[in-house]
Amino acid sequence: MPDRTLPSFDLKRNFKRVKEEIMEALERVLESQHFILGPEVKAFEEEVASYLGVEHAIGCASGSDALLLALMALDISEGDEVITTPYTFFATASCIARLGARPVFVDVEPDTYNISVDGIKNALSERTKAILPVHLFGQMVKVEEIKEVAPGITIVEDAAQAIGAVRFVDGKAIKAGTFGELACFSFFPTKNLGAYGDGGMVVAKSKKLADRIFRLRVHGAGRQYMHEEIGINSRLDALQAAILRVRLRHLEIWNEERRKAAFRYDLLIAEKGLNEWVTPPRADEHNHHTYHQYVVRCQRRDQLQKFLQDKGITTRVYYPVPLHLQKCFQYLGYKEGQFPVSESLSKESLALPMFPEITPEEQEWVIDSIRQFYLK
Ligand SMILES: *Cc1c(COP(=O)(O)O)cnc(C)c1O
Repeated sequence: MPDRTLPSFDLKRNFKRVKEEIMEALERVLESQHFILGPEVKAFEEEVASYLGVEHAIGCASGSDALLLALMALDISEGDEVITTPYTFFATASCIARLGARPVFVDVEPDTYNISVDGIKNALSERTKAILPVHLFGQMVKVEEIKEVAPGITIVEDAAQAIGAVRFVDGKAIKAGTFGELACFSFFPTKNLGAYGDGGMVVAKSKKLADRIFRLRVHGAGRQYMHEEIGINSRLDALQAAILRVRLRHLEIWNEERRKAAFRYDLLIAEKGLNEWVTPPRADEHNHHTYHQYVVRCQRRDQLQKFLQDKGITTRVYYPVPLHLQKCFQYLGYKEGQFPVSESLSKESLALPMFPEITPEEQEWVIDSIRQFYLK
């Protein structure tokens, strides 16, 4: 065992900063003995809606369920196509397939790792029912360009990794989750706004879609025991909502700390002459990137990862197998070589330790260790 370690994220350090507020919130819910939905969840929904500047927010059990509920509300079903990226977390595509529709994959851009707008243009067909772009690693997709190439097509944002991210278009600030008809968030503990368990949310522009999702999350019942359609059981619980209400108040500061850490990595990589082997992630100049992950492209990735692990530094690979090559999606008929950028990213990408509390000294240790690997 190395005498010193650095995890890829350290939730314990973060908990110390908010422990008192969290304990107070937990006590409030425990005293109320109201655990599922209810006033805490409603308050959290209102607070997120107001933070984002949207009309409707619907809490649910996870980010994966948020995606499923969103597509259910749009009546996505057999015969429909939904355009998305193969370089993302599994849930982005499984929700499409689960409803009997076809995920149509489009490759990503090599610098931002986000879905290619030209690719979307080429993938459109009469069957395209929606586009499901992912704001990957905390950076928004080119929302205005997607709208332009696909006028009239419904957009559902997978904003699971991007709460607080912003894109500036013609002097206007557009927040992640506010440009699509629907948008989905995840409160998985390691996300920028994480719960202490599972949680998710759909935000909606129209009241009609919002009302449908409110119903779908409680078995399709508008009134209790009156089932207008077949929904699912996907509720946010009050303890998680109370925790998230506390954590939402700190989100902007934590995101800013992540950004500072990312700039520090950028600088260290350049200063220590690593650019020959390591390419830092690119933040598009129109984007306020919130660095859910700091993902570099690097040579001899697997050996580097092992070298760092032996020193005590944990890194992660997002994502080792792009979705079009997953066994469960073989039936879609995609072949290796079809999405070369996603495929090479899956072999070159490495997420360095990133969390709001990481220290400059720890970051220097990471970069010095990487340097040692390439110069040894
Ligand atoms: C985390 C994540 C999800 C799923 O969220 P869960 O809350 O874990 O179900 C969906 N899409 C992306 C891009 C994610 O990163």
